[in-house]
Amino acid sequence: MSASRLLGITSTIPVEVALAGGWTPVDLNNRFITHRDPAGLVQQAEDQGLPRTLCAWIKGMYAWCLRHPEVAAMVGVTRGDCSNTHALMELLSRRGRRVFPFDYPNQDDPTALTQAMQRLARELGADLARAEEIRRELIPLRQNLERLDRLTWQESKVSGGENHLWLVSASDFDGDPKDFAARLDRFLALAEERPARPPKVRLGLLGVPPIIAGLHETLEELGASVVFNEVPRQFAMLDGDGGPCGSLAQQYARYTYPYEVGARVDDIRREAARRGLDGLIHYTQSFCWRQMQDLVLRRELDLPVLTLEGDQFAPVDGRTRLRLEAFVEVLG
Ligand code: SF4
Repeated sequence: MSASRLLGITSTIPVEVALAGGWTPVDLNNRFITHRDPAGLVQQAEDQGLPRTLCAWIKGMYAWCLRHPEVAAMVGVTRGDCSNTHALMELLSRRGRRVFPFDYPNQDDPTALTQAMQRLARELGADLARAEEIRRELIPLRQNLERLDRLTWQESKVSGGENHLWLVSASDFDGDPKDFAARLDRFLALAEERPARPPKVRLGLLGVPPIIAGLHETLEELGASVVFNEVPRQFAMLDGDGGPCGSLAQQYARYTYPYEVGARVDDIRREAARRGLDGLIHYTQSFCWRQMQDLVLRRELDLPVLTLEGDQFAPVDGRTRLRLEAFVEVLG
């Protein structure tokens, strides 16, 4: 595939539409956080004038794009994800990128969702019927991700950190669904052979993916395991208890992340019961509007919740480790 067909995405979009248009999706969040120097990217963005009081993910994505001009086009999710995406798209368009907005409508409006996907298909030169075909072709891969998730919460053979990494990577399948599926097959074959390692404390991790490095691993050291990665599981579009989706519109209407917080509360409640969770960690990002949803989650979920805030890319610090230790101890 030629480099000009690389398509940056700022959040999960109907990736089947991008693939149907012959684009290679590149999730900018994943590229930022797996970069060899994420802190350096944030610093570069601040050196260029982006404020200290702006979410580090936005700054990291911006600087990553500046270093990768080969990603010449972007889809920005301008409704249903992040209010900062508007300005990010403005900055990048002035840097010569083609930018396409994608808006998630209200969750109960399937017609509007279909129209949004039609608009995206037109802009990306894609055929929606082909996108539906790709959705069907991806079903075995999504079923294998479901299998991976069960190996975490039912069989204790895949760690919370591994689970997180595979599920967040499903937003763009690392740009190559075939290769991703083959690597996942190999990983599952190895993981199935592992002995089960049931944790003493079973946790759910809510909220946007943490910028803190080693959070899952620190919890493992403390005897707890994340057996529910809420938002990464949403990115991966697993069927779960709901059975298979019959269309793209159904799949992206079931996806809770871009919609009203009530859909997330219902999903978390259902998964907490199914997975036998002991407690929840709600990760929030400094300067993110989603921090306000902490109030709802704490009030409406029946399990103990520890709220953890992260700002810059850094390993778990001493204070955070102490808070995690105390939380795990109480739950244990
Ligand atoms: S963490 Fe919040 S502010 Fe930052 S990019 Fe994500 S949604 Fe936007």
